[in-house]
Amino acid sequence: MDYETFFRDRIADLHQEGRYRVFADLERHAGQFPRATYHTATGPREVVVWCSNDYLGMGQHPAVLQAMHEAIDRCGAGAGGTRNISGTNHYHVLLEQELADLHNQEAALLFNSGYTSNLAALGTLARLLPHCVIFSDAFNHNSIIVGIRDSGAEKHIFRHNDPADLDRLLSLYPRDRAKLVVFESVYSMDGDIAPISEILDVAEKHGAMTYIDEVHAVGMYGRRGGGVTERDGCTHRLTVIEGTLAKAIGTQGGYITGSTAVVDCVRSFAPSFIFTSSLAPAVAAGALASVRLLKASPDIRDRHQERAATLKQRLRSVGLPVMPSVSHIVPLLVGDARLCKRASDELLDHHDIYVQPINYPTVPRGTERLRLTPTPLHGDDDMAALVGALLDVWRRLGLDRQAA
Ligand SMILES: *Cc1c(COP(=O)(O)O)cnc(C)c1O
Repeated sequence: MDYETFFRDRIADLHQEGRYRVFADLERHAGQFPRATYHTATGPREVVVWCSNDYLGMGQHPAVLQAMHEAIDRCGAGAGGTRNISGTNHYHVLLEQELADLHNQEAALLFNSGYTSNLAALGTLARLLPHCVIFSDAFNHNSIIVGIRDSGAEKHIFRHNDPADLDRLLSLYPRDRAKLVVFESVYSMDGDIAPISEILDVAEKHGAMTYIDEVHAVGMYGRRGGGVTERDGCTHRLTVIEGTLAKAIGTQGGYITGSTAVVDCVRSFAPSFIFTSSLAPAVAAGALASVRLLKASPDIRDRHQERAATLKQRLRSVGLPVMPSVSHIVPLLVGDARLCKRASDELLDHHDIYVQPINYPTVPRGTERLRLTPTPLHGDDDMAALVGALLDVWRRLGLDRQAA
């Protein structure tokens, strides 16, 4: 077999479809977020980033950076082992206590990414439970899908954010059968939010345990940043709350929180937790500082929501097709993979604005979009420049506008 030709052809297919991924070579500048240097073949350029998941700019917060510097000076670079074999640093322990407290749960467990936390926790819990059936929202993230697959458990997909459909599927099983309902709070590509209480009502009625991915909500919703479950007052009803430290917290890593027994089972039985070296102590220290700060900073969350509402309003007022998001995420519909990529290229090349195109398989074909993530650090001038640039690109590409 000609292996090289085979692999080259697979890449050619992606180019053909207009969904070959090109990574923007960025150099972020601490203290100047959302500005960054964009490295191109023809040299570096300054750009404004409009698609970062560092939703609150905490990745550059002076208190977070200081905590990381201190931890490096105290503990050095790496953790030096797996959690079980010399790699549990005191910062890990403190951070787990802080995260358990953030979600009002008994215990928390750290992972090297949010992706791994879903993979490990879902794979392990649903494998341990005898004859477990999993009920998974149709729009769940790839890390959830892969975790479920890894568990080997029987699975049903319920219609997105639809408690009635979940009820229908749960009704197919006797009450004493082990069941796990898995969903997210904020869905990151549409910016919609799950009807959490209604889903919990249905799950409780059928005796199912519940697992929520709050990756796009921790730090940003709730009085202390405990996510939409905190905002909606239903933290205590979830079996597991999962989150990341790499988005609004601004560092790296993932976690689950839950009862002591549930968390201890994942700690004790999940291979992707057991057989990997733990997070660098400085990363844990940075996350610890960030979580502590965010717990006490509702002002940052208020400013974030204000920025998102203002951007949506400004885009709508000039007829740009904002999709109906109820969160901090502002998706702008393009509806074609190649045009979406071109819109993104034109924003970068002509306006020094960076927004990555979102294409299939991240979103369904025909709903390709630009996903804008305004942060508390995007000023009014940045917004005016963005709206002007988008209008220019929409005109040049002949894209649809809506009645304002
Ligand atoms: C980003 C993301 C993850 C993975 O988190 P990382 O820390 O980036 O690995 C998990 N779930 C959802 C819904 C995500 O969007």
